[in-house]
Amino acid sequence: MIPFVRDMAFEYGRPDAVSPLIRRVVANNPGPFTYLGTGTYIVGQGEVAVIDPGPALDLHLDAILEATAGERISHILITHTHQDHAPLAYPLKACTGAMIYGLEEPRHQADEGEDDSGLGADDTRRFRPDVMIADGQTVSGPGWTLEAILTPGHASNHVAYALREENALFCGDHIMGWSTTVISPPDGDMTQYYASLDRVQARGFDTLWPTHGPPITDVAPFVEAYRNHRLARERQILAELREGGGTIAEMTPRLYRGVDKRLHAAAARSVLAHLIHLVRIGQVHCEGTPNLNSHFKLISNSMI
Ligand SMILES: [Zn+2]
Repeated sequence: MIPFVRDMAFEYGRPDAVSPLIRRVVANNPGPFTYLGTGTYIVGQGEVAVIDPGPALDLHLDAILEATAGERISHILITHTHQDHAPLAYPLKACTGAMIYGLEEPRHQADEGEDDSGLGADDTRRFRPDVMIADGQTVSGPGWTLEAILTPGHASNHVAYALREENALFCGDHIMGWSTTVISPPDGDMTQYYASLDRVQARGFDTLWPTHGPPITDVAPFVEAYRNHRLARERQILAELREGGGTIAEMTPRLYRGVDKRLHAAAARSVLAHLIHLVRIGQVHCEGTPNLNSHFKLISNSMI
């Protein structure tokens, strides 16, 4: 079982000091994927970085500007380009002159528009930061240093940012305290996701600050449980295939019994992500490129 953490004291638009170097302002965009809303982080004092400005909401822009009144925003950092994280970066840059750091929106995400996971771009204009950040690259201000850690999986362009002074990680949607994260192919990739979980675990952070919901403070057991949850899902999928259920449409309602039906379309994409991984590692077979309509078969010597 994942030891989820869900309680968080906040008011929309109100900046809360949540650690010596970190303030958080929550945007009023609650929903099945965003939980209470997007948590925008302000790092430092006087000269600050803003992480994940959030969705294009005027009230949230005002809240960030009010929270940083009398200070200078020197960096805008994006964990990934989903609509609940990045769009406000442009107006925030226009108001402050700060440069935007992150990775650009992949072409297929922009071209496809909003997919049925609810996480895709709804705009044909591709998001491009001013600075394409590299793994290990740091940006800093007075008393703070942020290091980029590439963490593809939830999104191919996902970047987490380590705050060295507090041994903490702004982990975006890679790891969330309130829920598992959606891995939606083709941009989401389960094989990469496992590797990115390992990267975070290896660093031994004291605190994870997801963009949605409260921080995770018991990091190692949480990440371990998060990983085990995925492995358990894989075993369930293999068991479904052993029973003969060979399509995602057949498997998803059984695998996600008791889960909010609004999430089933996204869940189906997670099942596809698992199956792509299982095909890649030689445990499952399907004709052609795996997709939502493929028929999957267990390779007979697969371990369950
Ligand atoms: Zn996301």
